[in-house]
Amino acid sequence: MASSLRQNGFHGRIILIEKQPFYPYQRPPLSKSYLCGDIKLEQLFFRNEHFYKTNKIELIFGEVTAILKEKKAVVCNNQMVFYDELVLALGSVPKKLELYNKFNNVYYIADLHSTEILKKKLTEVKDVVIVGGGFVGLEFACIANKLGINTHVIVKNNKLLSRSVSNNLSEIIRNKHISDGIQINFESSIDKILISNNSIYKVKLSTSHEIKSDIIIVGIGSIVNDGIAFSSGLKTDNGIVVNEYLCTSDPNIYAIGDCASFLTELNEYSRLESVQNAVDQAKYLSSWLTGHHKDKYKSFPWFWSDQGEMKIQIAGNVKQGNYSVLKGCPTNTCYVNYCFNKKTLVAVETINSTLVHMAARQLFTQNSNNLPDLYELQKYSFDLVKLVKEKNKHNI
Ligand SMILES: Cc1cc2nc3c(=O)[nH]c(=O)nc-3n(C[C@H](O)[C@H](O)[C@H](O)COP(=O)(O)OP(=O)(O)OC[C@H]3O[C@@H](n4cnc5c(N)ncnc54)[C@H](O)[C@@H]3O)c2cc1C
Repeated sequence: MASSLRQNGFHGRIILIEKQPFYPYQRPPLSKSYLCGDIKLEQLFFRNEHFYKTNKIELIFGEVTAILKEKKAVVCNNQMVFYDELVLALGSVPKKLELYNKFNNVYYIADLHSTEILKKKLTEVKDVVIVGGGFVGLEFACIANKLGINTHVIVKNNKLLSRSVSNNLSEIIRNKHISDGIQINFESSIDKILISNNSIYKVKLSTSHEIKSDIIIVGIGSIVNDGIAFSSGLKTDNGIVVNEYLCTSDPNIYAIGDCASFLTELNEYSRLESVQNAVDQAKYLSSWLTGHHKDKYKSFPWFWSDQGEMKIQIAGNVKQGNYSVLKGCPTNTCYVNYCFNKKTLVAVETINSTLVHMAARQLFTQNSNNLPDLYELQKYSFDLVKLVKEKNKHNI
């Protein structure tokens, strides 16, 4: 948001407040390349000190503990920081398994600090239990498995990534993880834990299966960080409620990213936890605030996840789909799953097919009023790259 404001020619004062003692950094590598040591700490940071100085972005390290709307100020480090416009980008935090928090070997991949601790610990463990079959849990499972650690995932229902991907994609991902040696326990939960030295050394599942556990990783979703917004009287409802211009119930306060509950094209409120959503909303809002346009915010979701040899990429809204057509090549683990709603394409899920993903993103952003249907895709033998090229050539 801060850099985007400068790019849009904003010359006023920008104050960026961050409660963690680090320059703002990227979260996705924490469960991927940073955790397994493929990238260094410096590569996590969005910008370095020089950038903030030259762009006159004032960084305050401290926690905002209150928003005083009537004074147009926030409280941080026991001082008031005044604003003309306030943008809340508070993010979300991992949901906790409260019962197990007191044990020494229960971990969350939440932030840089917790990842550093986990990264060190990984060098000395043999058996890991992961609670949750979502993106973060599975990304971690792949890394642990690659390190030769016995990796067990506990999943409440009978499907991986149940909130985010189609049945087709979920099944491919499940089969790949199982064939790679990850042990997935579906329709199970922890029934009993065995403890020694304040650590859980074994878990007993609802299925009576027992698993040794040097460490337990919890990846059961996130909770929105909207506490200070709520206590200051801003409207919240599973997130800070914003209008079509990302403005909250206070005309001088905006919310973006994980913490914002915004109106989608389906006319329902939704909160997205993805880099695309945070970046798009920041870009939109900075150009809106600097008077570059008066448009309403329009969202087009896309997401990625790196799981072992699989680069999973999703463009569009999978939840809108009611049936899908899967194309692919199991030998190379390359797949494309086309999701339709009443014959119109609404999402494209890919594994190791980045060109198709990029074509889908282009299609959804540039041709959103003229999306292809099943017959048009059949005409192109489900070659989306070719279809998009043709559309571009003929400007349709
Ligand atoms: C392990 C992990 C892996 C992920 N992988 C992917 C992925 O593969 N693809 C993808 O698209 N997304 C992924 N995400 C999600 C993505 O990182 C988030 O959606 C994105 O970071 C949201 O940006 P944000 O600015 O809204 O919030 P954040 O990036 O969470 O930033 C919010 C910041 O606000 C600070 N803050 C909160 N409260 C206060 C306060 N009161 N005072 C001061 N500072 C405060 C926090 O410390 C934090 O630095 C992942 C997230 C995690 C944790």
